[in-house]
Amino acid sequence: MKIIRRSSGLTEELGRLERSKPGARIGFVPTMGALHEGHAGLIRRAAVENAFVVVSIFVNPLQFSKDEDFRRYPKRMRADARLCRRCGADVLFVPDVRDLLGRPELRERVNVPALARGLCGRFRPGHFRGVVRIVDLLFRLVRPDRAYFGQKDYQQFRVVEAMTRRRFGGRIKCVLCPTVRSAGGLALSSRNAYLARAERREALRLYEALKLGRRLLRSGRGGPRETLRRVRGYLARSPALRTDYLEIVDSKNLKKTGRKLRAGPGRLLIAAAVRIGRTRLIDNVLV
Ligand code: AMP
Repeated sequence: MKIIRRSSGLTEELGRLERSKPGARIGFVPTMGALHEGHAGLIRRAAVENAFVVVSIFVNPLQFSKDEDFRRYPKRMRADARLCRRCGADVLFVPDVRDLLGRPELRERVNVPALARGLCGRFRPGHFRGVVRIVDLLFRLVRPDRAYFGQKDYQQFRVVEAMTRRRFGGRIKCVLCPTVRSAGGLALSSRNAYLARAERREALRLYEALKLGRRLLRSGRGGPRETLRRVRGYLARSPALRTDYLEIVDSKNLKKTGRKLRAGPGRLLIAAAVRIGRTRLIDNVLV
């Protein structure tokens, strides 16, 4: 596995690949580092489905607002490189902020899909614009055939997928991979490193709440409104948790839905963001 730090170096490496193995399929896993088993799942799958795998680590300043954790975002470069190598990555691309943000492509206008408005978009203004601008740039540099994303960030997946369709047509396929969880059910996240032990216990409540919602919807005993009331009540029992949002939305257009569950599996998404101390956690389940 090669570690490449300059975008020009990446372009050269991919040029060499194209000359030695024309048409080799490229799988791409964009990340912000502090990698864990959730990321590992994406990289392994990319390695199974493609001839060549690029992983990027870039803590993207454009997607953080001023009061967020950009400066203290965890960094573990050596362990990250080991994990990437072990999971079958061919290139680990770790660009410098000035290199990437200085690229001429970033001056182009990118429209943010409407899917970015609700859920996290309401609480993190400008976040998805920052995501879309950098993913668009990374896609142009890496030119992948497939890009891999985790369900934990479901809205991000849908937003990037819509942007990709618009900007790259069918040339890049966005692949959604299941959320990897700790034994207790907490969705793995680089931000879990911020949680103290007691907070980690409280955090388990988030997935418990989502599972309760899923059971209620599946049982058909209550519609979305009644389900949300009960799940909110469950979350409210922990004084340590503050809920940014808890919503049941159509999994395709991310619009709120009051419909009872009749359509096929995976049509609805229960999504939530909570705060514990200074840490913000998100999670979701498809129903
Ligand atoms: P991040 O490094 O947090 O920007 O995440 C990079 C990619 O890894 C995104 O597509 C995330 O959705 C995905 N990811 C993060 N945590 C998990 C997890 N627990 N399970 C599956 N995928 C994940």
